[in-house]
Amino acid sequence: MTEQRFKTRRFYDMYLEFHEKIFETHVKCMQRLIAVLPFQQLNQIDIAERINQQKPILHASNLIIGDKELEDIFDDIFPIVKEFSYRQKESLLRLEELNDRRKISIKELVIAQVFGDKQKFSEIAEKYDVPATLLQRIFEFVASPFLELCAEFFTKKLSSYDWTQPFCPICGNKPSMARVNDQANTRFLWCRFCDTNWQFQDMVCPFCDCHDLKTIKIIFPSDRKPFRIDACDSCKNYVKTVDELIADKKFNITVSYVETLYLDFLAKHCGYQLPNHFKFYLELV
Ligand SMILES: [Zn+2]
Ligand SMILES: [Zn+2]
Repeated sequence: MTEQRFKTRRFYDMYLEFHEKIFETHVKCMQRLIAVLPFQQLNQIDIAERINQQKPILHASNLIIGDKELEDIFDDIFPIVKEFSYRQKESLLRLEELNDRRKISIKELVIAQVFGDKQKFSEIAEKYDVPATLLQRIFEFVASPFLELCAEFFTKKLSSYDWTQPFCPICGNKPSMARVNDQANTRFLWCRFCDTNWQFQDMVCPFCDCHDLKTIKIIFPSDRKPFRIDACDSCKNYVKTVDELIADKKFNITVSYVETLYLDFLAKHCGYQLPNHFKFYLELV
């Protein structure tokens, strides 16, 4: 095995092991949150009003999670990031110290990450010399268990409403993956923040709303594999896509998203924009 292939293999093994630990921790955090959070309070949100205005259900003022619960999740996630970090040890120590000295508010950063307040991260990154990509990814991992539980709570209720936007109806984030079924003629987008799926038009770019068929490029890395890249030449973004007719019936989209990192590198190689959060892995090892 050449040196480069050995390094690549090692990177993938670590990447998968890291995610396995994050998944296991998320499950534990979700079990804990179910027991303590007042989910019935979410019934007070007027879903019809939000959806009719084509706005996502959650926003900063209706989150039912407190600082304490988010700090506990941070305390579970942070050691995993630390364990797998080789190049960011000093930044992580600074972040740990900031947290110990209560210089940062976990809840504020979770809100900033979920609702796309990039300014907040640039300020902290600059002030305390901790990379913004590292901060954003950590706070996404901290937010996910709560967001997934909210998504579970709302999914059934959502099915009676019409949602046609290219962003998640629960948390408002852009899709990270899609699944298509040519027999049923459906395309569902998937949000990695809260694990929500929603139906969206086929062959339309969810990033720039481009409808021109000539700008959508489908890249199949290999025959009979269910995974492909649907890329847009207009905005240079892409969505990794699972073909349900070829995929194993029991495929899990969260796992598929992690396992298909090679598609992200292929998309980058083809000139498309690698989503910012992947830089986190490249900076980590
Ligand atoms: Zn979402
Ligand atoms: Zn586009």
